[in-house]
Amino acid sequence: MKAATFYEYGPADAMQYADVPDPDVGPGDVLIRVQACGVNHSDLDSRAGTSRWPFELPMVLGAEFGGTVVDAGSGAGHVRAGDLVTAFLQYNCGRCAQCARWRPDLCAAFEIFGTTRWGGYGELVSAPARVVVPLEPGDEVQAVAAGQCVVSTAWHMVNRLALVRPGDLVLVPSASGGVASALVQCAKLAGATVIATTGSSAKAERVSGLGADVVVVRDGDDIAADLLHATGGRRFDAVLDTVGGQLFGAHLSVLRAEGTLVTCGAHAGEVVPLDLIPLFRNGWRIVGFRLASPGDLAASLELIRRGAVKVPIAATFPVSDAAEAHRFLERRQHVGKVLLVAV
Ligand SMILES: [Zn+2]
Repeated sequence: MKAATFYEYGPADAMQYADVPDPDVGPGDVLIRVQACGVNHSDLDSRAGTSRWPFELPMVLGAEFGGTVVDAGSGAGHVRAGDLVTAFLQYNCGRCAQCARWRPDLCAAFEIFGTTRWGGYGELVSAPARVVVPLEPGDEVQAVAAGQCVVSTAWHMVNRLALVRPGDLVLVPSASGGVASALVQCAKLAGATVIATTGSSAKAERVSGLGADVVVVRDGDDIAADLLHATGGRRFDAVLDTVGGQLFGAHLSVLRAEGTLVTCGAHAGEVVPLDLIPLFRNGWRIVGFRLASPGDLAASLELIRRGAVKVPIAATFPVSDAAEAHRFLERRQHVGKVLLVAV
């Protein structure tokens, strides 16, 4: 098959559209002809050699994809050739002690498409039938390929880590980003009142469109005061943070006693100011997002299929032009998801 692949680590130019062996199809596997595949920031690190994953090269990236089954092994069960499908972007072994304890998220034999095995940057991808998710004929394959990663992250943060309940007051800083946009929508689905921040009034309208109740544009030097002004002085039950950076302490400071800040990203700065005195006096909890469970992946795919959470698509590139897609993502000028589509 043809695939966007790389034979050595390097800049975007390292991506080549080349002939690689067709993926193996075991008895329990299906072979999927890829129609669309999401491009993630982690792909850039994987290609550059900075991801800390030991890859066997050449590598075919791509964690989230959708397409049509073209071949199914004898043990593939209900999945048949011609089915429109996607697959969980990561999956557990189902046999180890952690899996037996119903903690699949702690499985030591975890597989991730595009990381531990080839993903959706090729014409074909092989997947175990047990992790394949059938789609309905009317489902938008691009929406599914674009959304699983960000929506499952957001859903897990809202429902499993922050434990958002109806009536809660939730802060989503820098809400125009990919996961943050999904956080606004997931927190609204959970029944929260959502206050979001953005860096410009141009982005504020878009964030309002996602359902945020109030959008605060960062323009002063006291964002905490601006936020509490916007809430009439009420403190937040949860802060859902995707950016970190110098405002981390200010975002933490507007939590109520025993409120929770969940963090999943640090594009604004990985090392942050943190005053420990108010942290323990207020009993604040800082929780890191690690992994969305299989149940969260299933829930997120259903939300996308129903249109309950929307992920905007910034651009699509033919899979033969993956290098250009990586350059586009590296410029960080876009809003929304970047996709590779079949040539
Ligand atoms: Zn396991």
